[in-house]
Amino acid sequence: MDKSTALVTGANKGIGKEIARQLAAAGHTVYLGSRDPRRGRAAVEEIGGDTRLLQLDVTDAASVAAAVERVAALDILVNNAGVSGGPRPPQEEDLDTFRRVFETNVFGVVAVTNAFLPLLRRSAHPRIVNISSGTGSLGSSTSPQYPKSGAYASYRTSKTALNALTVFYAQSLAADDILVNALAPGLRRTDLNPGARAADGDPAEAATGALRLAMLPDDGPSGEFHSWDGTPVPW
Ligand code: NDP
Repeated sequence: MDKSTALVTGANKGIGKEIARQLAAAGHTVYLGSRDPRRGRAAVEEIGGDTRLLQLDVTDAASVAAAVERVAALDILVNNAGVSGGPRPPQEEDLDTFRRVFETNVFGVVAVTNAFLPLLRRSAHPRIVNISSGTGSLGSSTSPQYPKSGAYASYRTSKTALNALTVFYAQSLAADDILVNALAPGLRRTDLNPGARAADGDPAEAATGALRLAMLPDDGPSGEFHSWDGTPVPW
């Protein structure tokens, strides 16, 4: 694919920063989304290339509207910004936690996607990549070999909702030739996952999966859920 312009939300650290780094290293223009300009600027300077800071809090309508005004063209949107909830099953989780997690992981994706759609519709090869989680897979959760536990209910249900959005965006944007897919990055050592052991994966490895979905050919899949290595994940 030719040189593209991408936006990665929540890209000042973790998996998002690695996605931004790999897109920039491949010669693409990257808008590095960060709700905190100071943290975002540090990441932009570290990555180099044609990387541009875009201040963007996905839960703030004014921030989303201001960010759209600063972007002239967009080919690739990576909805990466995310927060975790508590370890509790649904009956023990408080509603405020559900609301906080859904605000970023679900409503934030809808706000950003809808705001940037007019730019994506003008792209020759538009792609949307939603950074989901295998823990949101109902197919995996209900399979016989999966441990039966409703733990981390707020986070996991938010990713299940993101998966549903991926399918519905893919179906409703097919006429616009926008390919929309979800990625399960796998367990990674990041601030979101402080319990990850040293043996757990490097965020840079997960980013390669996001790049594959961002660079799909025009006849590539849409409405699919892939692991970082390209293996299909059940919804
Ligand atoms: P990090 O906590 O390292 O990074 C999360 C990023 O999202 C940060 O840049 C953070 O910004 C940003 N963010 C949070 N809230 C907002 C907001 N309202 N607006 C804009 N940016 C925001 O986590 P990861 O890199 O691990 O997570 C990235 C994605 O990968 C998430 O969607 C997560 O659910 C998913 N994922 C991660 C896994 C893992 O094992 N790490 C496994 C499966 C999925 P700030 O620095 O300001 O807080």
